[in-house]
Amino acid sequence: MGKLFYCTECKRVINGSEKCNYCNGENIKDLSYGTPVNIIGTKTKGRVLKIKDNIVRLLVRDEYNNKFIKEYDAEQLRKVL
Ligand SMILES: [Zn+2]
Repeated sequence: MGKLFYCTECKRVINGSEKCNYCNGENIKDLSYGTPVNIIGTKTKGRVLKIKDNIVRLLVRDEYNNKFIKEYDAEQLRKVL
């Protein structure tokens, strides 16, 4: 499993563990398996299944409660509060 992080301030998913490249926040945590995330600009939510480089595979649940697997770029994701 690859490694990505999220910023606890703006919740964006980022590559590095040093500093957030969106808000410059320094409070960074690991994005781990099962973490709930939202696809920015949509109401879609999913849970992290796998991380490979900058791609996150999510188990997504739609409004009818159907489950499916989809991949997104890290830039498209934000941790759910
Ligand atoms: Zn941030």
